Amino acid sequence: MKPFHPAQNIQDIQYFGEFGGVNPSIEDSSTYTFLKGDKMEEIFEKEIEGCYLYSRHWNPTNRYLSQALAKMEGTDSAVVTASGIAAITATLLQVCQAGDHIVSSRMIYGGTYAFLKNFAPKLGITTTFVDITKPEVVEAAITPKTKMVYCESMSNPMLEITDLRAMSAICKKHGILLVVDNTFTPLIISPAQLGADIVIHSLTKFINGSSDTVAGVICGAKPFIDSLSDVNHGAVMLLGPVMDSMRSASVLKNMRDLHMRMMYHSRNAHHIAQKLHEKGLKVIYPGLPSHPQHALYAGLINKEFGFGGMLVIDTGSKEKAYELMEAMQNANIGYLAVSLGFYKTLFSAPGSSTSSEIPEEERLAMGMGDGLVRMSIGLDPDPEVTFQRIMKCVDQVLSTAKA
Ligand SMILES: *Cc1c(COP(=O)(O)O)cnc(C)c1O
Repeated sequence: MKPFHPAQNIQDIQYFGEFGGVNPSIEDSSTYTFLKGDKMEEIFEKEIEGCYLYSRHWNPTNRYLSQALAKMEGTDSAVVTASGIAAITATLLQVCQAGDHIVSSRMIYGGTYAFLKNFAPKLGITTTFVDITKPEVVEAAITPKTKMVYCESMSNPMLEITDLRAMSAICKKHGILLVVDNTFTPLIISPAQLGADIVIHSLTKFINGSSDTVAGVICGAKPFIDSLSDVNHGAVMLLGPVMDSMRSASVLKNMRDLHMRMMYHSRNAHHIAQKLHEKGLKVIYPGLPSHPQHALYAGLINKEFGFGGMLVIDTGSKEKAYELMEAMQNANIGYLAVSLGFYKTLFSAPGSSTSSEIPEEERLAMGMGDGLVRMSIGLDPDPEVTFQRIMKCVDQVLSTAKA
């Protein structure tokens, strides 16, 4: 297989603005004119390249951003949405109908878990949650009603890695789709190149990178992406999570330095994780050989972008987790906030925040204790300085626990 260069693919896009500008023009219109009545009739029936009808259906600015994201994942097509969860729910509802079944990783974003567990059953769609690190368990859960395996390439928040090649082989064997949320590892993992059929991102995180908006994308084969915006049957068209074109233009501009940001996030997180590990702390970072899936992960990634910007520290208890986070915010290491991919480090306790949708007993069964602190390491110029500051807080908060 020829090497895949996601960052080069983005860089190679050439857009011109309406008057030759180096930035594409922003199309600030909800509706579009037609010269002839019959042309309008035609576009209601099928997509016409370069022809726009109504902004919820498609607009040129969203098309630019979608194309850049399709280039990044190496899929034929993509469609952007107003949030990551809209990309997920639209995909699930486009593929599944009443009576259908989904096999999903049990370790997924809390909102996705809540949708599958509480909302989808109201529509007759059921889900079996499995340990995604055990391919034989995943395969055994597939029934004749199963339409897809759903997972995250790197899971939230335990940073488990899905063997996407193995998942793809299972899905192909059973004639079902592999749907992958790649939010934690843009550029680092290219799921479609490893056999995923549909790749989803919350653009809110690393891809936009400036914590100023919520957005999402669905990348996949053209017929599927076209079906999402079908005026009669499309989940994106009919549920209506359209991204505003002003915001879309802004996300596209932020994507230009995504490759440099990912390298920096990875460098910093790797350094800090390594040092914390050496100090004897319980740290989860898939770039460390101590991570149970380190070797698998190393075989999946586009190496130039490193092992990612996320790490988890286990402080042992919720109280210690809160104390550590408050100390780190006071020391200006970053912010006590959910989300990820910001230039400043963000930290939260997943058990009581982003994964609180998952019942406590299930969280504990997954090893997701209350003392976890999830950190999205920022673009700090010197990770050693950050490490020293974190260590000072750790010593202050955890000294009693360590003794
Ligand atoms: C944040 C997140 C989502 C949801 O995206 P929004 O943009 O907040 O709607 C989905 N999956 C993962 C892994 C996330 O981190």
